[in-house]
Amino acid sequence: MKFNTKTIHGGQDNVDPAYGSVMPPIYQTSTYSQSTPGGHKGFEYSRSGNPTRTALEKSLASIENGNFGLAFGSGLAAIDAVMKLFKPGDEIISTNDLYGGSYRLFTSIFEGLGIKFHFIGMQDAEGIEEYINENTKLIWVETPTNPMMNIIDIEAVSKIAKKHDLLLAVDNTFATPYLQQPLDLGADIIMHSATKYLGGHSDVVMGSLVVKDKELADKLYFIQNASGGVCGPQDSFLVLRGIKTLHLRMQRHCENGEAVAKYLRSNPKIDKVYWPGFEDHPNHDIAKKQMSGFGGMISFTTKENTLESATKIVENLKVFTLAESLGGVESLAGHPASMTHASIPQEERAKTGVVDSLIRLSVGIEDEEDLVADLKQAIG
Ligand SMILES: *Cc1c(COP(=O)(O)O)cnc(C)c1O
Repeated sequence: MKFNTKTIHGGQDNVDPAYGSVMPPIYQTSTYSQSTPGGHKGFEYSRSGNPTRTALEKSLASIENGNFGLAFGSGLAAIDAVMKLFKPGDEIISTNDLYGGSYRLFTSIFEGLGIKFHFIGMQDAEGIEEYINENTKLIWVETPTNPMMNIIDIEAVSKIAKKHDLLLAVDNTFATPYLQQPLDLGADIIMHSATKYLGGHSDVVMGSLVVKDKELADKLYFIQNASGGVCGPQDSFLVLRGIKTLHLRMQRHCENGEAVAKYLRSNPKIDKVYWPGFEDHPNHDIAKKQMSGFGGMISFTTKENTLESATKIVENLKVFTLAESLGGVESLAGHPASMTHASIPQEERAKTGVVDSLIRLSVGIEDEEDLVADLKQAIG
């Protein structure tokens, strides 16, 4: 089955044995009747499993070319489950240009529980090796990175992970499986904030993991059930519905992203425009190799390079909404230094380029002319 067909049909055989409904019913139930103790039909209690969530988990596994999917109450709950594979003394190497909430989870919770993190630039995969020692267990990669749109070569990192017998996890939230398939490039775990492109309509918070390996899936399933960070059936239904149009939405996100990136670059008041589709983007070749398009996420800075200049633009926007989050049908603008990345100390932020005038756009699927006109009037 090819990708577009998988978004609609992947893992969705016989979702309703009772009546043959095309979409799985929303099984809004916490428990399931048993004919005799232990005599159930595959579901006992909805933390351990719920048929609507199972339908979504099978879809997730299918679109990511994996064997097992797990859905959680948020992206961070999914990352939290991965971290619980490790124990005090273990070390994890992570990209330094990272979603702020992931950084906060790693440093404020898991560092305190004895796990050591190294945050490093990974555009040069070879550079990872000097941080590897006998305690290293995992490499955590986000690509494209948030919000600087750096691209990390997943295949090159996976070679290093395999050489040292480490797990490789990829946060695939920005690219989605429409643009990038990390398991095929050698990753062991794919994580998503399904809140973003997979859900796609800014109406649900959810996270997911997809793996190929049965043993790893069993460990993560144990954690999912034991820690209990699951999502409900209504949200599972919404994300499953979102996935069915993922390919159509992503195609438009890519087209509009290109138009907006090119417009920003042509505006004399704008300084840097970070978008991996530009041929002079430092990692453009890797992006071209591992992604089938460049997406709708763009960051830029103003020539004035002040907080005020950025504030003025985001306040003037009319079609773009000033809001956290990304990946929905509507275009959003964010100010990382004061919003998504406020939990990262200013010195750390500045090291990775998150300056005070940086604005991040999640380009939606509206008409490209309206988006460009909106930026034009807001930048002035
Ligand atoms: C939003 C996001 C997360 C966290 O997901 P939630 O669903 O908000 O918990 C993690 N990684 C990336 C890249 C994100 O954009």
